[in-house]
Amino acid sequence: MTNKKVAIFPGSFDPFTLGHLDIVQQALPMFDELIINIGMSSSKTPLLSPEERKTVICRIFSQQKKVRVEFFSGLTVEAAEKFQAQWIVRGLRTEADFSYEMPMAITNRKLKGDIQTVFFPSACEYSYVSSSLVKELCHHGAQIDSFVPEEVVDILKSKVVARTR
Ligand code: ADP
Repeated sequence: MTNKKVAIFPGSFDPFTLGHLDIVQQALPMFDELIINIGMSSSKTPLLSPEERKTVICRIFSQQKKVRVEFFSGLTVEAAEKFQAQWIVRGLRTEADFSYEMPMAITNRKLKGDIQTVFFPSACEYSYVSSSLVKELCHHGAQIDSFVPEEVVDILKSKVVARTR
């Protein structure tokens, strides 16, 4: 039995935003390991492939030994079990997030009583930031520097350059 405090932060992260970064920074002091779990939802049209998302998130946290990045497409509680995590980290921006997250947290607790969800409030300045917003801006060729880490800007720029070659 290990006393290591492990949490997973599941999401699409397509792309990883400054809002996601803020949640990771809030959660990190509380855990020994934080696993960013890239879900592979087939219902959304992706901007970045799962591998590109993983590469960019690993780059962002290259100096942070407590962060690990993994893929998992099943139920979040199954991912938590697989990675031996006792906590699920989620971010809350608005009432809409709350309405969506609460039933999920209650369901996950019903499925696996020993895995708890912990919520972190979004920073005020990122409460309107979402991956969908960034995707929309990218689609129209707008600047995204104030919404995502520079590593994300770089990978998106390199994709545009590759497409125009
Ligand atoms: P999902 O498809 O699971 O919602 P996302 O990548 O959109 O995946 O979000 C993952 C988690 O990060 C969710 O808990 C979401 O509420 C949170 N999140 C997303 N954007 C922000 C933000 N700007 N501020 C705080 N939390 C955020």
